[in-house]
Amino acid sequence: MARLVMKFGGTSVADLDRIRRAAGRVAAEVEAGHHVAVIVSAMAGETNKLVGLTGDASALHDAREYDAVVASGEQVTAGLLAMVLQNDGISARSWLGWQIPIHTDGVHGAARIESIDTAEIERRFDENQVAIVAGFQGLGPDNRITTLGRGGSDTSAVALAAALKADRCDIYTDVDGVYTADPSVVAGAAKLDKITYEEMLELASLGAKVLQTRSVEMAMNHGVRVQVRSSMNDTSGTLLVDEDEIVEQHVVSGVTYAPNEAKITLMQVADKPGVAAAIFGPLSDHNVNVDMIVQNISEDGKRTDLTFTVGRGDLDRAIAVIKEMKGAIDYKDLVSDADVVKVSIVGVGMRSHAGVAQKMFTALAEKNINIQVISTSEIKISVLIADDYSELAVRALHSAFNLDDL
Ligand code: ADP
Ligand code: ASP
Ligand code: MG
Repeated sequence: MARLVMKFGGTSVADLDRIRRAAGRVAAEVEAGHHVAVIVSAMAGETNKLVGLTGDASALHDAREYDAVVASGEQVTAGLLAMVLQNDGISARSWLGWQIPIHTDGVHGAARIESIDTAEIERRFDENQVAIVAGFQGLGPDNRITTLGRGGSDTSAVALAAALKADRCDIYTDVDGVYTADPSVVAGAAKLDKITYEEMLELASLGAKVLQTRSVEMAMNHGVRVQVRSSMNDTSGTLLVDEDEIVEQHVVSGVTYAPNEAKITLMQVADKPGVAAAIFGPLSDHNVNVDMIVQNISEDGKRTDLTFTVGRGDLDRAIAVIKEMKGAIDYKDLVSDADVVKVSIVGVGMRSHAGVAQKMFTALAEKNINIQVISTSEIKISVLIADDYSELAVRALHSAFNLDDL
C-alpha cells in the first residue's frame, strides 16, 4: 500500500466529463489499495476569468480580496470531484486550504506555504477516505485566504506530498510529460522520460509553465518523487530525478522562453561607485524584480549605458521609480522596450561541454536574430531578443542541439 498525491490541472477538470475521467483515475488507485490525496485546479479558463473580474472591479484592488475571489475556482472542482467519487461508491470529501489548514506567509497573490497540518487527512486515510484538496490556496497569518501565484496548485500538490511523506506525487496535465520544448511551439519536441530537479527548476523559472517553479524547488528540497503525466492517456510520463539517475546525459535537455519581459536602458549613467546600488536599491524596495543586467565600460571613464530587464507587468512601476530617482542616479536618458523575450537553453551537460554558447549564438545568427542581452549560469544560457522572433529562435535552438532527433 502506498500513499499518493494526485494533482489534476485545469484542462484535466475542464468539465464534468473530464472530472469523471479524473475520478476514474483516483478510483483505480484506491481500488489498488492506496491512500490518496488529490489536489485540484480550477476548471480551465476559470482563474483567468476571475482575475479579469478583479481587474474590472477595481484597478488598484485590495490583494486580500483578490485572493478571496481568485481562490474560488478550486472550491468548485474540489466539491464536484468529491461528489462524483461518492456517486461511484468511494468515500471522499473536499477540503479548502483554511480547513486543513495549509498555512502560508502573508504575501497575498504570491504566498509561500509554510506548514501543512496533515493529522485529520491521515486519520481519514485510516478510514479509506480520499481527501480532495483545493489547490492554489492557503491560510495567511492574518487569518485570510491566500493564493500561491499562477500555476500554484503544482506547489500545493508537492507540498502536500512532502507533508504526507507520500510515495509519489503525480501531476496530471494536458501533455504527456516534460518535453524538450513546449510541444505547442515545437512540433518535433520530444518527451523526456527523466529530467533532473535542477534542470526542471531552470526550465520552470525560465518560462516552461508545465510545473510552477516553487513546486520544483520544494520537490528538490524534500526529495519528493514527482511524475508529470497526461490525464488524457496512459503513456508513462516524466520523472524528476537526481542527476546520478540519468544514464544518457544530453548537453542540452530543453529550450524554453519567457515572453513577459521588458528592457530598460539608462543612457549615460555616471560611471562611479554606488550608482548600481542607487538604481537597484529603490527598485527592490518597490518590489520590482530585476533579472538580466549589463553595463558597458565607458570610453572616458565618466559615463556608460546600463541595461536591465524586469517583468513586463512591472515595467511602468520600474520606470516611475527610476524617474523619481533621476537626481540621485544621474543619467541622461531612459529608453524602454516591452517587446522582448528571453530564450534559454538548459542542460546539466553544459558543465562538462565547451562551445555550447558559441553553438547557440551561431544558430541565432543564422536566422538573423539579434541578441540584446546574455546571461549564463552553470547549466543554462539565456538571451534577450525581440519577441517577434521567439518561436523561430526556440525552433532553431531545438534543431541546433539535435533535440529534434531524440
Ligand atoms: P495544468 O493546467 O495541467 O497545470 P499548464 O497549462 O499549467 O497545465 O501546463 C501544461 C502546459 O505547459 C502544456 O500544455 C504546454 O503547452 C506547456 N509547456 C511549456 N513548456 C513545456 C515543456 N517543456 N514540456 C511540456 N509542456 C510545456
Ligand atoms: N487555477 C490556478 C491558475 O490558473 C492554479 C493552477 O492552475 O495551478 O493559476
Ligand atoms: Mg499549471
